[in-house]
Amino acid sequence: MIDVKNIREDFPVYQKQPNIIYLDSAASALKVKAAIHQVDHYYQTLGVNVHRGAYDLAYETTMLFEGAREKVAQFIHASHEEIVFTRGATSALNMVAHAYMGLLHEGDEIITSELEHHSSILPWMMVAKHTKAKLIYVPLTKEGRITEEGFLSVLSKKTKVVALTHVSNVLGYLTPIKAITQHAHAMGAVVVLDGAQSVPHMAIDVKDLDVDYLAFSGHKMFGPSGVGVLYGKKHLLDQLEPFEYGGEMVDQVTKESATWKEAPMRLEAGTPVISGAIGLAAAIDYIHQIGFDQMHAHTHELHQYTLKKLQQLEGITVYNPTADNPVICFNVDTVHPHDIATMLDQYKVSVRAGHHCAQLVSQFLGVTSTLRASFHVYNDVRDADIFIDAVKAARDFFLGF
Ligand code: PMP
Repeated sequence: MIDVKNIREDFPVYQKQPNIIYLDSAASALKVKAAIHQVDHYYQTLGVNVHRGAYDLAYETTMLFEGAREKVAQFIHASHEEIVFTRGATSALNMVAHAYMGLLHEGDEIITSELEHHSSILPWMMVAKHTKAKLIYVPLTKEGRITEEGFLSVLSKKTKVVALTHVSNVLGYLTPIKAITQHAHAMGAVVVLDGAQSVPHMAIDVKDLDVDYLAFSGHKMFGPSGVGVLYGKKHLLDQLEPFEYGGEMVDQVTKESATWKEAPMRLEAGTPVISGAIGLAAAIDYIHQIGFDQMHAHTHELHQYTLKKLQQLEGITVYNPTADNPVICFNVDTVHPHDIATMLDQYKVSVRAGHHCAQLVSQFLGVTSTLRASFHVYNDVRDADIFIDAVKAARDFFLGF
């Protein structure tokens, strides 16, 4: 059982802001002390670059940085050569899509979905525009889920890329990606998985899922912002045209041409996100320390508790009562979500209002925007109760209940 009081000791923001009811972890998780300490350690005691120096400090920093790569690799059951540090999930997804600009042709098809975050769909929309490949959407179920059947209905020999979210950031639905990947591979397509919302909540084994690429961000898993990860199968990363050119990614340079190093270096031009990677490694240690099973049991219980209470309120629509991730997407009927979110803030309740960088989801739901409450390991029943009271008060204020 998770003891939230103890957990909050690990998140310094609760010492500085003891009254916050933070229900926006799907946007960014709070930062764990261990990760902050590691970032601080780098700046206070090391502060130098990696890979380049022949001196002790450079060696120590490089060991820490490459140790972080190894840790990330083990976390998702990959090899260290398959881990590219990026600025975030957005950069990772753009990096892959950019390389496929040169690999796709007119008539090729890219399968995606209306559940995508903009960072998973817009790069492919641009690739499609540039190459004249076609963007194809998986038909969703009435509830808004991607299913194996829906996927099979659009998969064809023309499919070259499948770019899907693992868990929707708005509706919290889990995509059956293992089955989808098997079908995609049978047609010779590659699978690019957006794991920004799944990696912070569940154990991921890229070997088992067999996806070709996986992207995620450090800041959603208690780690620093400014660091993310692109996992890719080694033989694919080795062929990926770099998004950026510069220092440390190059093998030989002549006046006319250049050759690139093997992955991951070919995809990490310039000084990498050293402190971010080191901080992320500490966040991963923390996640291991708690364990995904414990985290899931805790957030699932809290999610169900809150959902039940919210559904009992008149004048509220919940769009995703069967969500797999601890995310509730809802509206107070006829009231703009921003008005509700502003009022919730008066109760120190932080939720997200808007289209959540996934406008196609709002369009699918037939609304302009929604509210989203999301939970993580540091939330408790008191948070849920205050949230429900605040929603009730906002509803009463705007709807005159
Ligand atoms: N995909 C999903 C599903 C997300 O929720 C997010 C973050 N909201 C991203 C991609 C992009 O992540 P980042 O902003 O950290 O690059």
